[in-house]
Amino acid sequence: IASLETKPEPTVIRTHDLVIGGGNFGVIAGPCSVESEEQILASARAVKAAGATGLRGGAFKPRTSPYSFQGMKEEGLKLMAAAREETGLAVVTEVMTPQHVDLVASYADVMQIGARNMQNYHLLQAVGECDKPVMLKRGASATMDEFLLAAEYILDQGNQQVMLCERGIRTFETHTRFTLPLASVAYLKSKTHLPVVIDPSHGTGHSNLVPSMCSASVAVKADGMIVEVHPDPSNAMSDGAQSLTFKVFEATMQECRKIADAI
Ligand code: PEP
Ligand code: MN
Repeated sequence: IASLETKPEPTVIRTHDLVIGGGNFGVIAGPCSVESEEQILASARAVKAAGATGLRGGAFKPRTSPYSFQGMKEEGLKLMAAAREETGLAVVTEVMTPQHVDLVASYADVMQIGARNMQNYHLLQAVGECDKPVMLKRGASATMDEFLLAAEYILDQGNQQVMLCERGIRTFETHTRFTLPLASVAYLKSKTHLPVVIDPSHGTGHSNLVPSMCSASVAVKADGMIVEVHPDPSNAMSDGAQSLTFKVFEATMQECRKIADAI
């Protein structure tokens, strides 16, 4: 179903102010995790002012350690929905288990499937049955074929609103958290009509490397990007090292607009 041979026209995903695909570059930005009302509202206002149309924020967090902050759960979803009421930004948030699909879908506009769950087939089928767009993140060790077949699990249940997210893979390299293969965009575009977005934050793991990978996302003609932005990155409860300040995000967006105008 994902193949260009089945459907040559690009899939376009629209929800609230967010449009991704078919020549539209959608920008989703916000903190890794929702931490408080103040934090998510400040982030929503700042990323909207800078030009984002989607708000990211995890309420159910897949943390490597069970002792790390696990997210605000439904309370976090409510805060995301409140931020949407005020700003019009589409809410993008992760769902981790099939049992939580209805709950998350009642607040979210885009259901994020995290890299760790890319091959959680029952979860893929469950979001395939819901009526919200899905952002499927590439597993850190998944091949392109495995990635596309994971998308197929969602599409096969009837949900055609699927976007793919390249968020970096695990390699021998350790100077970045993951290795971000930008050629994925060109490859996926040669195979599928589904929109492709880049995650420069998880893809690099270091905030100083994120702005240039945002620029690169525009230059390689991705359909959008998802960027971690935090009011106070050094005190973030997750992924502070890769999160941009409001000021740096603003400058990054300006640079992205220049590149978009030049190509
Ligand atoms: C996230 O978006 O914060 C996240 C956990 O991403 P990934 O699933 O790509 O690691
Ligand atoms: Mn994160």
